[in-house]
Amino acid sequence: MNRSEGPEDLCRIDALALAGLLKLREVSSVEATRAFLDRIARYDGTVGAFLHVRTEDALKDAESAQRTLDAAASGGPEAPAFCGVPVALKDNLSTKGIPTTCASKMLEGYLPPYDATAVERVKASGAVVLGKLNMDEFAMGSSNENSSVKPVRNPWDATRVPGGSSGGSAAAAAAGFAAFTLGSDTGGSIRLPAAFCGVVGLKPTYGSVSRYGLVAFASSLDQIGPLTRSVADAESVFGLLAGRDPHDATSVDRPATASATRGVKGLRVGIPREFLTDAVQPEVRDTVRRAAAWLSAEGATCVECALPAVDYWIPAYYVVSSAEASSNLARFDGVRYGHRAGTYDSIASMYSRSRSEGFGAEVKRRILLGTFVLSAGYHDAYYGSAQKARAHIRAGFEGVFRDHDVLLSPVAPQTAFRLGEKSGDPLQMYLQDICTVGASLAGIPALSVPAGFDGEGLPIGLQLTGPAFSENVLFAAAGCIERSAGCLGRFPDLDRAVASAKGA
Ligand code: GLN
Repeated sequence: MNRSEGPEDLCRIDALALAGLLKLREVSSVEATRAFLDRIARYDGTVGAFLHVRTEDALKDAESAQRTLDAAASGGPEAPAFCGVPVALKDNLSTKGIPTTCASKMLEGYLPPYDATAVERVKASGAVVLGKLNMDEFAMGSSNENSSVKPVRNPWDATRVPGGSSGGSAAAAAAGFAAFTLGSDTGGSIRLPAAFCGVVGLKPTYGSVSRYGLVAFASSLDQIGPLTRSVADAESVFGLLAGRDPHDATSVDRPATASATRGVKGLRVGIPREFLTDAVQPEVRDTVRRAAAWLSAEGATCVECALPAVDYWIPAYYVVSSAEASSNLARFDGVRYGHRAGTYDSIASMYSRSRSEGFGAEVKRRILLGTFVLSAGYHDAYYGSAQKARAHIRAGFEGVFRDHDVLLSPVAPQTAFRLGEKSGDPLQMYLQDICTVGASLAGIPALSVPAGFDGEGLPIGLQLTGPAFSENVLFAAAGCIERSAGCLGRFPDLDRAVASAKGA
């Protein structure tokens, strides 16, 4: 790539390539930042990925990043990895002085007094923060239709959902609104939208990335991770996020694992039969088989296998996550921060009115469900059973990983569905998470990689799941799929998206 390729191209290349151009001073950070801001201004009215764009401040940050790059070029200290690279962040990541609303009325106008550790690390890498990204309210949802502000549209087909809950993060990465984005994944919220939008998304091993400053949904499941346009980007962004943070007691330093550059020779790949049933779109099933052939061609052995306890995944996940959500969301009571009702006649009515007005329907549903499964008389039957199921699910994975290094499966039963298609039926929506919640309950890493397109031109993502701290193996297998699938560099036509949104 060189200057002659124009500002639009800066928005299409991956973050590592852009970082390289910036270091060589082929382009300036201000030019790159302008290119992304122009693209956002032109197309995000249709896509709806951003809740907040820092136009002036991002340009100021770009100027300061440029000073660092210029100094490095004239013999000063080396510039950090992503110096001057424009990025964007899911709106449940606390950003000092920048609105952080979780796409909820409850947090309208909230300005955090500190940065999340993940945000701090991204800033320390020199990246320029363009703004905050739309999501399902408090990260509860699979289609991004639960945002209190507006839905996000899929850049590949604006009549479709981008997936959720990190729908803004996936759509922004796919549309070229940022060089990479961060999302969060509790039960699939990075992987599902990454698959629907045709980008790479990683849910890291629980504990490998600090959750400090991530607005909590279900603390035993939440993880922050990258959404990127290439596997190499996902690996390098993960590298900068990972590591122990004294502010999150569950965070650990990453044990050394095999290098991602080692390839897939000798890798034992299991393909769970449970996810190849008739309930899965045929083109998605075919793509799993095609990917197995690509992996085999590079020296892996791929065999079908049985994954125990899959039937317990969805019920266990929705009981555990809602129980934790009901406790975590108790803090939004209108007292310290967040929405407070205008009129009330007692402290109890202030709490209940503030919460009734501030939370949307899905969040209320989870709070009610979670409170119920934890209540006296029901705790053992529901929460207790779900915890037992969780232990069983974890053991199921441990057994499978004795014979396999990595599992290959769909991310979702089908490609992106239409806006409104499932929003009236919570159970149908929860079933979108059927392939993703297992890794969350077991705390193990899972990655979504683009592997093809269906007959309607919608991206198909595949999931790679491995034992704890096997991210590098996932990157190696994903690299093989990326090389073979030929999706790298394919870009949605945003002018078409705008036209189809108008016709919708
Ligand atoms: N769709 C799942 C849910 O609604 C997962 C959400 C997430 O991972 N944050 O709970």
